[in-house]
Amino acid sequence: MRIAAQTLGCKLNYAETSDHLRRLSDEGHEIVDWTAEADLYIVNTCTVTAVAEKKCRAAIRQAHRRNPEAQIVVMGCFAQTAADEVARIPGVTQVLGNESKRLLSYSTAGGHRTRTFFKIQDGCDYFCTYCAIPYARGRSRSATIEETLCAARRIADSGAREVVLTGINTGTFGQHQGEAFLDLLRGLDQIEGILRYRISSIEPNLLTDDIIDFVAHSRAFLPHFHVPLQAGSDHVLSLMHRRYTTALYADKVHRIKAAMPDACIAADIMAGFNGESEQEFQKTLDFIESVPISYLHVFTYSDRPGTAALRLGEKVPIPVRHEHTHRLLALSKRMHQTFIQSQLGKERPVLWETAEEGWTDNYIRLRAPHDPNRINTISPITLTPDNIIATTHDN
Ligand code: SF4
Repeated sequence: MRIAAQTLGCKLNYAETSDHLRRLSDEGHEIVDWTAEADLYIVNTCTVTAVAEKKCRAAIRQAHRRNPEAQIVVMGCFAQTAADEVARIPGVTQVLGNESKRLLSYSTAGGHRTRTFFKIQDGCDYFCTYCAIPYARGRSRSATIEETLCAARRIADSGAREVVLTGINTGTFGQHQGEAFLDLLRGLDQIEGILRYRISSIEPNLLTDDIIDFVAHSRAFLPHFHVPLQAGSDHVLSLMHRRYTTALYADKVHRIKAAMPDACIAADIMAGFNGESEQEFQKTLDFIESVPISYLHVFTYSDRPGTAALRLGEKVPIPVRHEHTHRLLALSKRMHQTFIQSQLGKERPVLWETAEEGWTDNYIRLRAPHDPNRINTISPITLTPDNIIATTHDN
């Protein structure tokens, strides 16, 4: 069969799709581009916002238009939480919730040979009031450290140089079996062949000072952090049932920068959650400006069925949510420019994904003259306005 896939949402979804495609390719199927005509389309969906769900529906309709005879398999969080609705979309032949995906082992890897996503954890016990993911993905769980290190050794054998550790709430790795995430990081750092690790995202309350110190002194963990903030107002954070205050968040960011001055720090931020009055929103803007974050991933709040936020008052009108989103996106752009400016003239190690493009350790995309020999190697490059590829990290 000719098989095409489309992934929406988080890095964990990307890791899972890559894993499915690798298995299907091993079984002899031909993997084709999403825009090609295929016999089977896989859509791995997301439910984080109403916009994410809209994109999922659009992807399914696109596949059906491209080949009305094709099978369409829909999986992931939207498939889990709205199975009936998804099954009614014309062309859909199968809906797989995350229950079916759980048949896969927790430790899977997938993606490009140079950089690979490695799923080390699934599910979440936090139940933030806006989030449907714990309902879609279930409770936090992971393989043991020993099993995870075994899977990582196989990734090293495959030739991948950079591994991105992914999960839904990555920092809770091991908690249910009395193992510590930091011990996993220590073990991974010892694995020969893997030259770089990134932690895709970690909750601020789980980003301990010991983890920050470890990353700063480790062999292979990179100075690149993704630490969800969601709001810069303690009132809104408490309505969200987030497990930290802005003071704790600021402390973590300052600690990272003190230990690794060139570190890139990304923050998720949600615009228009309940209680985000103009005054609270201004607190968020002021807070973000006060800490050395490199850029933002901006999400617009939308009601998710079944979540506690539906019962909260203080709704923000939808046009105001969009206005806040645009202001955050503009701020993020300025912050990223400031971060890039701070790196000009500095020499950073670059892992080349292609003959012309690669990523610095602190997550800046660079270009260089075509040279096939550089693929999957690391070389030091001085950053200039000409070799930096402008990227927008916003959603
Ligand atoms: S930590 Fe909160 S936002 Fe993240 S997956 Fe868990 S419930 Fe959702």
